[in-house]
Amino acid sequence: MSDSGTTHEFQAETKKLLDIVINSLYTERDIFIRELISNSSDALEKMRHESLTKEDVFDDNVPLEVNIDLDDEKHTMTITDTGIGMTRAELETNLGTIAHSGSGNFVAELAEAARKDVSLIGQFGVGFYAAFMAGKKVTVQSRSWDGSEGHEWVSDGGGSFTIKECPGLHRGTRIIIELKDDAHDYAKKWKVENIIKQYSTFVPFPIKLEGETVNTVQAIWTRSKNEISDEEYNDFYKFIGNATDEPHYRLHFSVDAPLAINAVLFVPKENFEAMGFGRVEPGVNLYCQRVLIDQHSENILPEWLRFLKGVVDSEDLPLNISRQSLQDNALVMKLRKVITKRFLKFLAEEAKRDSDYYLDFWNTFGIYIKEGVTSDYEFQKELAQLVRFESSRSEDGKPTSLAEYVERMGDEQEEIYYINGPTRAAIEAGPYVEMFNKKGIEIIYTMEPIDDFVLNHLGEFDGKKLVSADRADLDLSKSGDADSDDDSTEKLGEDAGGELIAWLKEKLEDKVADVIESKRLVDSPAMIVNPDGFMTSSMERIMAASRMEKGLSPEASKKNLEINLASPLIKQLAELVKEDEGFAAEVAAQIYDNAMIQAGLVVDPMVMVERNYKILTRAVGA
Ligand code: ADP
Repeated sequence: MSDSGTTHEFQAETKKLLDIVINSLYTERDIFIRELISNSSDALEKMRHESLTKEDVFDDNVPLEVNIDLDDEKHTMTITDTGIGMTRAELETNLGTIAHSGSGNFVAELAEAARKDVSLIGQFGVGFYAAFMAGKKVTVQSRSWDGSEGHEWVSDGGGSFTIKECPGLHRGTRIIIELKDDAHDYAKKWKVENIIKQYSTFVPFPIKLEGETVNTVQAIWTRSKNEISDEEYNDFYKFIGNATDEPHYRLHFSVDAPLAINAVLFVPKENFEAMGFGRVEPGVNLYCQRVLIDQHSENILPEWLRFLKGVVDSEDLPLNISRQSLQDNALVMKLRKVITKRFLKFLAEEAKRDSDYYLDFWNTFGIYIKEGVTSDYEFQKELAQLVRFESSRSEDGKPTSLAEYVERMGDEQEEIYYINGPTRAAIEAGPYVEMFNKKGIEIIYTMEPIDDFVLNHLGEFDGKKLVSADRADLDLSKSGDADSDDDSTEKLGEDAGGELIAWLKEKLEDKVADVIESKRLVDSPAMIVNPDGFMTSSMERIMAASRMEKGLSPEASKKNLEINLASPLIKQLAELVKEDEGFAAEVAAQIYDNAMIQAGLVVDPMVMVERNYKILTRAVGA
C-alpha cells in the first residue's frame, strides 16, 4: 500500500492539554527538552531490559543513547534515541491521547496549577506534548523494536495530526522540532547544553549534543556515600522527582543481608497532595543491577509512603521479572519490608537528632504516617514511635511523642489518655480535661478528625492502653495527685441527688442511654460520655457525616450523661423540679444539648435556640 498518510483528530483532553502547553506555560519553556529526553530515556530503559532478557532483538548492535542535533539556520532541533520505538498503532494512541489514568482530572489539575504558579508544572510531566511549547511543527519518525516498518507522525499542535509510512529508519525515535519564531535560541548549543546539565545530568544513557556527550553516566546510588556532594544529591532529587525544591530528608543506604540493596530515598519539602493537586503517584523507582524494572513502583513501598522519591536497586531480583508479577513476588515483599523498616528507623533517629526539624516533616507529611497506622498493621510498632500530638503538657504548636508522654507519667498511672476537639482552646475550655488538670494527669489533644482512629488502631503504646477521655468507664481514681480527691465543695445530698438523677433519666429517656453521677467533673455541670468503649465522640461524628453523605440517617448511638452534683446549676435544678417541673425539663434539655455541643456532636439548632430564648426570657425576668 503506498501511504500518503492518514489524518487523525486529537482526543478532546489532549486538545485542552495542548492549549495549556502552548498558551500558558511560556515561562517554563525549557522543560520541553527535559520531557523529551526523559521519554527517550524511558524508551532506552525498556530496550535495555528487552535486550537483556530476550534474544534476536532487531537492530541489537546500535548503542543505547540519545543524540541531539541543532540547525541554527533552519531553526530546528532533532532528538534521536535508539530506544524501543513505536509502531504505527502506538504512534496513533501514544501521541494522540493522554496516557494518565483519569486524564480529565489530570488536565483540570494542570490548568489549575498553571493558573496558580507555573513553576509547579514540573510536578506534572506534560510529557511529549511539551514539544509544542517551543515547536510550531513537530515531526516524529519512529520504528519499533519489533522490526515492523517505520512511520512518521506530523502535527502543528492544532486539532489534528497525520501519520504515514517512513521507510529506511533505524530502531528508535527521532523528533524534529521546527522552532517557533521566538524560540530560535533552542537551536543554539550553549543554551541547550545548559538545559541538559540543569535537568538531565542523571539520565543513565549518554546524551550527545552535536556528537559530544554532555552528561556523566553513572548511577549515583551505586557510588560510595562520601564521594557524593550534597549538591549532587539535591540535583539527583530534582531529576528523579521532577522537583524544584530541595529535599527535606535524604537516606542513602546499602546492605548486603538479608538482601543486597542500594537505595537513595528523599522526603520532599512540599506535600502536593495536601496542596490540592490530587493523589501523588509513588515516586520510587525499582532497579535491578541498574536496569529499571518498575518506574514509580507501587510495590516496592507501602502506599502510605507514596510521597517518597528515589531509587531502590537490588541485584537479587531476577531481571526478567514482569511488572505484573512484582505485586505478589515474595522477594519484592521482603524488599519492601526491609526498606520500609529501614526508612522508619531513619525517621526515628532524625526525630531524636533534631526534633524541631522533624516537626517540620511531621507537619507536612504526618498525615501519611497516620494513614500508615490506620491501614498497615505490619509497621504499627515503628509508626507509633513517629506520631506526634499536642497535649496538656506540650507547648502550643509543639506536639509531643507517645514515648515522651510515657516518660512523664506517674508510676501509678497505667493508661495514656486523649481527648478530641477542634482546637486546643476548645478542648481546654471543655469539661473533659477538668479532672485531668485537677489531678495533674497529662492528656493528649487530638485535633484532626483522623486522630482518634489512629489512636484506636494503635490500641496501646509501650504496654499502656490508649484511652479516650470521653469513655463512660474512665477511672482516674488511682492516677495522679490523690490529695485532689477530697472534695471540699458541697454536693447535693445522696437522696436529693438520686431523685434528680431518676427524674433526669425519665425526662431525657429518648436521648440518653443513662444518666449518672460524675466522679470527674470539677466545674462543668454535665458532660456526654460514651458507653461503647470503642467509639469516641469524634469517630461518631465522622461516621455520622459519612452516613449522611450516603443519604442515610445519622443514627447516632445513645450516650451517657454525667452530671456534677456539686455544680450550683445542678443543685438549683433539683429545687426547680419541685417548683416548676415544666420549666425544669426545659433546663434539663438545654444542659443535655450543651453537653452534646461540647462533645462536638450534633443537636437540632432550631429547637435549641428557641428553648434557649425561653430560658433567657425567664432569666431577665420578662
Ligand atoms: P508519558 O511519558 O507520561 O507516558 P508522554 O505524552 O510523554 O506521556 O508519552 C506518551 C507515550 O508515548 C509514552 O508513554 C511512550 O509510550 C510513548 N513515547 C513517547 N516518547 C517516546 C520515545 N522517544 N520512544 C518511544 N516511545 C515514546
